[in-house]
Amino acid sequence: MAIYNPKSLKAEEFINHEEILKTLAYADENKNNDKLIDEILEKARPQKTKTGYVCAGLSHREASVLLACENPEKIKKMFEVAEEIKQAFYGNRIVLFAPLYLSNYCVNGCLYCPYHAKNKHIGRKKLTQEEVKAEVIALQDMGHKRLAIEAGEDPVNNPIEYILECIKTIYSVHHKNGDIRRVNVNIAATTVENYRKLKEAGIGTYILFQETYHKNSYETLHPTGPKHDYAYHTEAMDRAMEGGIDDVGLGVLFGLDKYRYEFAGLLMHAEHLEAVHGVGPHTISVPRVKHADDIDPNVFDNSISDEMFTKIAACIRLAVPYTGMIISTRETEAVRAKMLQVGISQVSGASRTSVGGYTEEERPHDTEQFDVSDQRTLDEVVRWLMETGHIPSFCTACYREGRTGDRFMSLCKSGQIQNCCTPNALMTLTEYLVDYASEETRKIGYRLIEDELKKIPKENVRKIAAEHIEAIKNSNKRDF
Ligand code: SAM
Repeated sequence: MAIYNPKSLKAEEFINHEEILKTLAYADENKNNDKLIDEILEKARPQKTKTGYVCAGLSHREASVLLACENPEKIKKMFEVAEEIKQAFYGNRIVLFAPLYLSNYCVNGCLYCPYHAKNKHIGRKKLTQEEVKAEVIALQDMGHKRLAIEAGEDPVNNPIEYILECIKTIYSVHHKNGDIRRVNVNIAATTVENYRKLKEAGIGTYILFQETYHKNSYETLHPTGPKHDYAYHTEAMDRAMEGGIDDVGLGVLFGLDKYRYEFAGLLMHAEHLEAVHGVGPHTISVPRVKHADDIDPNVFDNSISDEMFTKIAACIRLAVPYTGMIISTRETEAVRAKMLQVGISQVSGASRTSVGGYTEEERPHDTEQFDVSDQRTLDEVVRWLMETGHIPSFCTACYREGRTGDRFMSLCKSGQIQNCCTPNALMTLTEYLVDYASEETRKIGYRLIEDELKKIPKENVRKIAAEHIEAIKNSNKRDF
């Protein structure tokens, strides 16, 4: 299928309205074309190689045909292939993280976000460095090792220097056994120079949600403030990569515009990054818009059912098999359970979306961004993951050993990810169980670790992992 060259175009030119409309028309024409659907599914299926598996992925047009298809038998097959891909590259490991809200000062006018500048009744708050420390200690005491920092856009209250100072503070907190090992950053689109500074500060993934790929809707939903500039926002990942950040995380805020339009735009964005920078997005997040303080309910006209949401996740899994997928506590336990099956590889746990929320006894609502649907503790989420057949992982090894960007992707493609990720997941899970878990969770965890160790194919790897696990249980040695 001839699709013009993404390499020669800027992100905003490549992800364009005409191509998305053509894609949707092509998907409608072919949604009952069983032969084509079978071919697309076959293309997406993982192929076994000598060292592991490879996957071809799908173009945005191919994946859009699957998303449009309403045949229950074919949809069932989509879910099966998505699960196969997930097993091939991620196994049953699920990485855990928590968001850390630094500041809700914001100069933008986003119509769906309670942090919008005109909201006069939300409490505005920005953490001091002492408060950042206290929040980090509270997160470490739960067992978190990986954070995603969040802030509104405000060049006076939250300039890049403030964000950099917070990152430095986070990495400097050594409390009991609990260092934060990876700080991902979700802040507004910025300059190449600022991305370079974030890279130098040692961030993990730079995450920025597109919100919507529909340019007209984007401009309506972001009427005022720097975020109004669609091209500047859409080209942020190119600037981030130019600034040296290898791992970038895409996302759409589902519910703002029509999901099929967003889906095609999201995949085109991934294609653009792969073509221009040689590496696609490290992660894709799938947030759904939630009701929030001072938000007009009409913003939520495009909400999607849980069934469609799961199908979208499965189709993303088929299209970009090597990209991690993230689901947050915006979703309920039941939805998260379904999404895990079809390809999610990272979940947040015990999140609080208010500024300074982790140090409060009760979940505060006065400064929060949105209500979280999954309000379980980290211990409960870890136990639930194990009881539903997953290995909760606190691993950050790839990032710290420099396996980011294309080096991470080649590890993933070589199949070697299986040999090093499972042992790392089991070791970091042991750290969690020894240092933070309840008695009940620990018991379930030790049993799971024993079973999973037996499944590691290489004897020497199995032996080393078992030795490290024993060392973690019997000493203060951590972070192998
Ligand atoms: N200020 C940064 C920006 O503009 O990209 C990022 C930080 S903001 C705290 C993180 C994300 O929260 C936004 O990108 C948006 O997708 C999401 N968000 C905003 N309002 C929301 C709502 N009502 N429900 C769910 N997610 C929301």
